[in-house]
Amino acid sequence: MTKWILIAVTALALAQGAAAEDIPIPQERPKLETPAPASLPVPTPTSPSSESTDKPSPESTDQETEEPKAPVAKLEKEDLKELAQCLSDLRAEGAAFKTAEQIDDGDGCGIDKPIILSEVLPGIKVIPEAKLRCQTALQLSRWTKDSVLPAAKVALSGDKLTVIENASDYVCRKRNNAKTGKISEHAHGNAIDIGGFRFASGKRLDVEARDTDSTLQGAFQRAARATACLYFTTVLGPGSDDAHKTHFHIDILERSRGYRYCR
Ligand SMILES: [Zn+2]
Repeated sequence: MTKWILIAVTALALAQGAAAEDIPIPQERPKLETPAPASLPVPTPTSPSSESTDKPSPESTDQETEEPKAPVAKLEKEDLKELAQCLSDLRAEGAAFKTAEQIDDGDGCGIDKPIILSEVLPGIKVIPEAKLRCQTALQLSRWTKDSVLPAAKVALSGDKLTVIENASDYVCRKRNNAKTGKISEHAHGNAIDIGGFRFASGKRLDVEARDTDSTLQGAFQRAARATACLYFTTVLGPGSDDAHKTHFHIDILERSRGYRYCR
């Protein structure tokens, strides 16, 4: 019996030994695989770490820029007395407009008491009609009457100005359509972009680089732009930067001590 047990144990041991010998075959594979995973972990820790340094920083920057924005992101309320005076003055200029519901697009964007301006002066349309604060519309009306019309009368031999082309009015966005930075005056109804002027004869004058344009049209555009600085606190246009190659940007941003930025 003991013999049989010994034989059985030996046979078992041999069988295990054979099985154990089978292992080296898979063992060789890990050897081959080992260098590969060993080389993989090298880029693996670096790539997540580089991503983790890349990712969190913009995320945290966003949070940093968003957090202080929150308290600022309130709609600016109109002084009702000043508004009533403005609406009365705008009517007196002969502008065609209607009042509209409050716009509050959050993020500091909106107009408490917007108006939709369709004619800046009698017979001079704003196309498309512009959604603005009353004060912006009033300055546009005054500038057109006191400076643009007289300049057009001389430069275009009596051809009558009929349209001011509105290239952009109220829109909730950052300055120059950037993703970050200060909110645009367009987002407060304080700004309008003018793409061109149209006249009764059908003549059209697009705003474009005219610094060296020796025609009367060139002189008209330069006169309009220069005089805009008397009515608006910011005047930008062709030559200011790439964002203003084809329009005037004019706004009534309140600046300290009446400072104006006209470039
Ligand atoms: Zn603009």
